[in-house]
Amino acid sequence: MNERPSVAILGAGMAGATVARRIAEAGWHVRVFDKGRGVGGRMSTRHTHAMQFDHGAQFMRARGETFAARLAGWDRRGIVASWAGAGRRVGVPGMTAPVRDLLGDLPVASGTTIVRIGRDRAGWRLTDSAGANQGPFAALAIAIPAPQAAALLDASGLALPGVEQAAYAPCWSLMLAVENAPGDVLIEPQEGPVGLIALDSSKPGRPAGARLTLHATRSWSRAHLEAPCEAIVDALTRAAGECLGAPLRPAYAEAHRWRYAQVETALGRPCLYDPGLRLGAAGDWCLGPRIEAAHDSGLALAEAILADLSASA
Ligand SMILES: Cc1cc2nc3c(=O)[nH]c(=O)nc-3n(C[C@H](O)[C@H](O)[C@H](O)COP(=O)(O)OP(=O)(O)OC[C@H]3O[C@@H](n4cnc5c(N)ncnc54)[C@H](O)[C@@H]3O)c2cc1C
Repeated sequence: MNERPSVAILGAGMAGATVARRIAEAGWHVRVFDKGRGVGGRMSTRHTHAMQFDHGAQFMRARGETFAARLAGWDRRGIVASWAGAGRRVGVPGMTAPVRDLLGDLPVASGTTIVRIGRDRAGWRLTDSAGANQGPFAALAIAIPAPQAAALLDASGLALPGVEQAAYAPCWSLMLAVENAPGDVLIEPQEGPVGLIALDSSKPGRPAGARLTLHATRSWSRAHLEAPCEAIVDALTRAAGECLGAPLRPAYAEAHRWRYAQVETALGRPCLYDPGLRLGAAGDWCLGPRIEAAHDSGLALAEAILADLSASA
C-alpha cells in the first residue's frame, strides 16, 4: 500500500468517475462522495416496480478521438452497445453502466451530501449534511453541476472564478409503462411540450415490456418547472399521445424534474484548477451539453491535479 495522500472527488457522474479512475490509475488514493443513492448522476437508471428506465441521458456519441477510444473499449467489453433503430450507443444494462465501470471498486460514499469544504495545513476537509467530517485530502475535485458548485464554494467562503459563468436548462422527464410499443424507437419532435420519446425497453439488455422515457422541451420544462408531478404526468402523457397519433393509457407513470439538465452556456475551457489551493472543478458545464464533455472535462482536471501532485511528490 503506498503512503501517498488521497484526492477527494465530489460527484459520481461521468466527470467525477473519470477524474477518480485516472488519478487512481496513476497510483494515488481517491475517495468519491455523491449525494445520490447510486452513482451515475444524470446518466442514471431508475429501478422501480420491477421495471427500469434511463430517465436522464438517453445515448452517447463521440465527436473527439479521446471519447471515441473510450467508447470503443466499452463496446468491446459489452459496457455499451448499439441501440438498433436509433443508431446510437447506450449503456448496458442501463445508462449507468459506463460510470459504474470507471468507478469499479474505488471507494464511493453514496448518500453523502457535502455542504461545506475547507482547508487547513493538513489539506482539504469536507463536511456532510449529517455534520460528519472527512479528510484531510491533498487535493479536491468538484465534479457537480456549476450552480451547485458555486453554491458550495460560496457557503464555504471560497471562489473558483468561472464557475458562475455556466448555465443550464431544466428538463422534465416522464417514465411510462405502456401496453403497446410505438413503431419507432426514438422520436425527437423538439416542439411544443415534447422534446423526445424513447422506447427505453428497446435498448439492448433491457427487461421485457414496453416502457417509454419522454423528455419535455427546454421551454416547456422552464415554464412548468414548479408544477406538481401529477400535472406534469397528465400534460406530457396527453402530448406524447398526440405525437404518436394514439392516446397513451399508461399502467405506470412517474415524472422526474432535472433542475440542471442540459448545459446552455458552457465555460469554454476544459476545467478549472487552482494549484495554490489544490482545488479544481469539472463537468459538462465546462465544454458542452454532452456525456463526452463531462468525460473530457474530468480527464483534463485529473491531468491538472496529477501534474501538480507529481511536481511536489
Ligand atoms: C434529461 C437529460 C437528458 C440528457 N440526454 C443526453 C444524451 O442523450 N446524450 C448526452 O450525451 N448527454 C445527455 N444529457 C447530458 C448528460 O447527462 C450530462 O452532460 C452528463 O451526464 C453530466 O455528467 P457530470 O458528471 O458533469 O454531472 P452529473 O451527472 O450531474 O454528476 C454530478 C453528481 O454530483 C452529485 N452531487 C451534486 N451536488 C453534490 C454535493 N453537494 N455533494 C455530493 N454529491 C453531489 C450528484 O448527485 C451527481 O451524481 C442529458 C441530461 C439530462 C438531464
